[in-house]
Amino acid sequence: MTLRLKDYEPVVGADVLQELYVLADRVKGRRLQNINSTSVGGGVAEILTRLIPLLRDLGVDATWDVIKGDQAFFNVTKAFHNALHGKREEITEQMFDIFRETTEMNLRGMALNGDVTLIHDPQPAGLVLRRKDAGGRWIWRCHIDVSAPDPRVWEFLWPYVEQYDAAIFSMPDFAQQLSVPQYMVAPSIDPLSDKNKELAPEFIEAVLEKYGLNPERPILTQISRFDRLKDPLGVMEAYRMVKKRHDCQLVLAGGGAPDDPEGEEVLREVRERAASDADIHILDLPPFSDLEINALVRGSTIVLQKSIKEGFGLTVSEALWKRKPVIGGAVGGIKLQIINGVTGFLVHSPEGAAKRLAQLLSDPAFRQRLGDNGYLHVKQNFLITRHVKDYMLVMLALDYPDEDIIHLG
Ligand code: UDP
Repeated sequence: MTLRLKDYEPVVGADVLQELYVLADRVKGRRLQNINSTSVGGGVAEILTRLIPLLRDLGVDATWDVIKGDQAFFNVTKAFHNALHGKREEITEQMFDIFRETTEMNLRGMALNGDVTLIHDPQPAGLVLRRKDAGGRWIWRCHIDVSAPDPRVWEFLWPYVEQYDAAIFSMPDFAQQLSVPQYMVAPSIDPLSDKNKELAPEFIEAVLEKYGLNPERPILTQISRFDRLKDPLGVMEAYRMVKKRHDCQLVLAGGGAPDDPEGEEVLREVRERAASDADIHILDLPPFSDLEINALVRGSTIVLQKSIKEGFGLTVSEALWKRKPVIGGAVGGIKLQIINGVTGFLVHSPEGAAKRLAQLLSDPAFRQRLGDNGYLHVKQNFLITRHVKDYMLVMLALDYPDEDIIHLG
């Protein structure tokens, strides 16, 4: 099915689309080459899958390429990812060599020909070495929380970042000391995707039943890659505390991403910790389980995203859009989406999460209010149409590159 912008009119209104058509007239025909490190799994792939066709519908020649890398490279970049998030990781000279070699290998095999080249995250950041030959404008789009990075990794990455024309971060907290302009663009969800569209109640029930969940009893859910920074064990701890007083079931659903080699180990830990509790449902979902994930969230009573670090956390907006109250870690982009006490609760510990779970489990009307607020908050700020607008604005802003920090949100 071809994605058409006009299909979004019933959701966002004609005025929003009109604005996009006006902007598109000024960037039409420009080639926007996106490059990242995986075509499935994780938020960046999720966004690009939907954003590229919409930009194309507007006449922007948007394309998407994925760099190649072996297991050793993705072990390195996952360690960089963790370290940039401030986690302690052993970083060696050999890791920097692997990064450089894989960058060189990709440079040999890749056609770089964007009027604007948009490089997503650290994995492909080194491609900028080719910018002189390739021409055009180059932007580094950072999706992760780099507010307190491990200095060794940031100092390694920084000389690459400085070679771009601009950097984009998801929120002002992540801005860096850079000599290039920085733009703030929050990520987004697509209200019409299988992950987010309305579903028939019978389908939702069938999915709950398939996974052994009882729709008559409260369901607490976290959808995430099995990643320590998503804190699945902390979620389980909170569930166990709340379970002493409130009947509930827990769903921890996730899958892997080819550029995340830690998933299996974390999944094993999570399974071990769940032991034989029949009310804990650990679901290892294959890629493209979007309709089932949608149904699991819609069938849930409360959604969690108890991350310890988070660039944005699309799963939060995905749940708020479905009018679910969300309890999230008070970190990174989750703070943009959860307005404490208005669209959900921000927490700092399993105890905090358990306290808010208990409060929400005993107050259905409050849950509903938070969910309704969440829906509106996402509608105003985190839908894909706003994201399309921001990317077009950044393309235009590059024609006038002397501003320092512009907030486009
Ligand atoms: N997701 C998925 N299957 C899974 C786990 C996650 O499709 O098994 C999706 C999730 O719904 C969201 C994205 O992957 O759309 C994850 O993005 P987020 O920003 O929450 O986290 P990231 O994985 O990028 O750190």
